[in-house]
Amino acid sequence: MAAAMAARRARPVRVLVDMDGVLADFEAGLLRGFRRRFPGEPHVTLEERRGFLAREQYRALRPDLAHGGLHLLQPSAEYRWVENHLGPQFVERIILTRDKTMVLGDLLIDDKDTIRGQEETPSWEHILFTCCHNQHLALCPTRRRLLSWSDNWREIIESKRGARIVDSS
Ligand SMILES: [Mg+2]
Repeated sequence: MAAAMAARRARPVRVLVDMDGVLADFEAGLLRGFRRRFPGEPHVTLEERRGFLAREQYRALRPDLAHGGLHLLQPSAEYRWVENHLGPQFVERIILTRDKTMVLGDLLIDDKDTIRGQEETPSWEHILFTCCHNQHLALCPTRRRLLSWSDNWREIIESKRGARIVDSS
């Protein structure tokens, strides 16, 4: 009986959570920083944002605006952000990578609409986290969105728990 129960026990669900645009409001911070540094210059409001890379939209607006203000956060700043907002225990869980397809997981919650890399069939299901630059995109019916952290993220995790049964015997 105990063995049968153990066999039905689902293993923990591994959830990979992107930082910029998912945990941290990257777009609002970017716009705030840009306007502070370049007051009076044209800018792209959050309502007008389209496409994953803000830099490309600024380049189309005026080429010189794509430089200067739109720098990427340095990894050290990301470590600091995680320590300040989530606590030191989460610093231990940071994964820095340029290729998310190589990281094992059940779910990847990410605001980037298309994630490609060396691995053509990543282990995770990509959940698109809704953000100003992707909210207008129509997804194919098999893909899922998380509209915000007020949306039902627990249900998404539970859907994976049921899908993964381990044999612990
Ligand atoms: Mg992101």
